Amino acid sequence: MYGLAVVEDAVARREQLKDVFTAARGCTRCLQLVETRTQVVFGAGNADAELMFVGEAPGQIEDEQGLPFVGRAGQLLDQLLAEIGLARDDVFVTNVLMCRPPGNRDPHPVEVQRCQEWLWQKLELVRPSVVCTLGNFATKLLRAEQTGITRIHGQAEERQLGAINVRLLPLFHPAAALYTPANVELLRADMAQIPELLARGPLPPPAPAPEASVREAVPASVDEMAPRDDVDQLGLF
Ligand code: URA
Repeated sequence: MYGLAVVEDAVARREQLKDVFTAARGCTRCLQLVETRTQVVFGAGNADAELMFVGEAPGQIEDEQGLPFVGRAGQLLDQLLAEIGLARDDVFVTNVLMCRPPGNRDPHPVEVQRCQEWLWQKLELVRPSVVCTLGNFATKLLRAEQTGITRIHGQAEERQLGAINVRLLPLFHPAAALYTPANVELLRADMAQIPELLARGPLPPPAPAPEASVREAVPASVDEMAPRDDVDQLGLF
């Protein structure tokens, strides 16, 4: 079904994602988070996924294991994914912040600002056709608007995210759904749209802009930030 060029392209994107992963693991942009984190939680899953989830920030278990959404919220996400015929291996899961905020406090705006370059790179390299934002932080960041999740959950829309066009579906955060059980049903109903959104296929890419692409706009220091000799977690994707 896929032409060789497409396959080669996916392989090249995966290799670049590994490079970004290696660099991100040594990120020291947010000094407080560097002090308190166990490790960077880059994201995990299928590097060529058609569906990407973007949560808020790692919690304690994610910080310990180095993987996103492995606690109770992650279990709910897995269950709801299974109900629509999908598994973790089918999707890529990441967060707005890659480091756990101490005490699970909200991300600070400056932390979101500093971490977002990594997220844009993940989006461009995984190149999903559908992006589900989980909760307010991811939704506000990727929609570049302040509309809250309660108002717009379940309302899919086409959006340009850096170098790609996607179908963006804002969803309640699974942790919020656990906190308010009625929201589990809303989350389930909203996620029921995902198969149909995926079936529509990818959107054409944005017309090339005269400005530098997001990837080109990443400062050289990001790519040069970390040693490249320790890539033992690459099995993640
Ligand atoms: N909540 C998040 O937003 N992300 C995780 O990875 C886990 C819990």
